[in-house]
Amino acid sequence: MAIKKLALYTVMATTILLAACSNDEIAKNDNKNDVKVKQEQEQQDKEAVKQEKQSKQGEENISSEKNNEAKKDESDIDLTLKPNESGEIMVLMYHSITTGKESEWARTTENFKKDLKVLYEKGYRPISLTDFVNNNITTPAGYTPVVLTFDDGLQNNLNIIEKDGKKTVDPNCAVGILEAFNKEHPDFPLEATFFVYGSNPFRQKDLVKYKLNYIVNKGMDIGNHTVSHNDMSKKSNQNVKAIQEYIGKEAQFLESMIDSDYKINTYALCNGARPMKDLQPLLEKGSYKGFEYHNIAILNVGARPSVSPIDKNFNPMSIKRVRASETNVGRFGLYAYLEMFDKYPQKRFISDGVADIVTVNKKNENKIDKQKIGDKKLYIYE
Ligand SMILES: [Zn+2]
Repeated sequence: MAIKKLALYTVMATTILLAACSNDEIAKNDNKNDVKVKQEQEQQDKEAVKQEKQSKQGEENISSEKNNEAKKDESDIDLTLKPNESGEIMVLMYHSITTGKESEWARTTENFKKDLKVLYEKGYRPISLTDFVNNNITTPAGYTPVVLTFDDGLQNNLNIIEKDGKKTVDPNCAVGILEAFNKEHPDFPLEATFFVYGSNPFRQKDLVKYKLNYIVNKGMDIGNHTVSHNDMSKKSNQNVKAIQEYIGKEAQFLESMIDSDYKINTYALCNGARPMKDLQPLLEKGSYKGFEYHNIAILNVGARPSVSPIDKNFNPMSIKRVRASETNVGRFGLYAYLEMFDKYPQKRFISDGVADIVTVNKKNENKIDKQKIGDKKLYIYE
């Protein structure tokens, strides 16, 4: 009680004391307050002006973006380049890139370099497998996209040389050659998918994590080629448990090794083999010990260029590939198809250079599935 009373008296005394201040003091204080309020007001006004400016700037930016977007309409598509986005795209299949001898499943480094040079000169430009299946094709106008894939994760796909504790990419491995080519030709993007299997992809046990991250960090891709190169047509593999284990366990392992939240969602069939029909949905989706996988693309082994991702017959669960080889390939090798596209250029996918517009010649209109065009604009020309 006594303490409360004391507190009350103190408050009262303070009030009286304050009231006893001279008028001058009060005026001064008022002035000070006025100045303070004024300053605050000015500050607020400045802020408001600044914000207004910023938002105007933002609006201007948005509207100039809109203008840019608006600029990219049909009138910006150069029809003299004969854009043909319903045309065919090659998904190339490599295995070994060797300093040794050329063979059916091995391309020499020299021949691999030749392939890149020929593709470049003939107007082919790499895109990622994901962009291909999603029809997110940003290849410049007049050029043809191509998808590069490497199966089996051999050491010569990505070989690391360690010297004095420093790691360098072997200039004679696939990645080394691709990087050098991209450096020399920046308009030939560094895009490729490496389909690996097992727990030692690229065959340098201590460098598995380093290599997988190296590829992903460079903007290239890692795909699934099962736990132990499992042929899904083999009788012993044709069951619900085995299929999910071979795909799911590998995807889980690869994702656990890659630092970013990268998804392993493309799968190349080993020996191009599938299980019986009833089990085939498990190639796309399934789970292994609680880990779920979902493949957006399944790649076959052969044997011809793929139809466009907007073609009625395009099936991302069964993508055809062209063998990037000159040995025992008959009419199904890279050079046979390059020749075919030279001879029949109207078969080839030619980009219109505008990602949001799908440009198709009237003659090919019946080939396309309008559902597959999605949000994009379809532009038919004659
Ligand atoms: Zn394989």
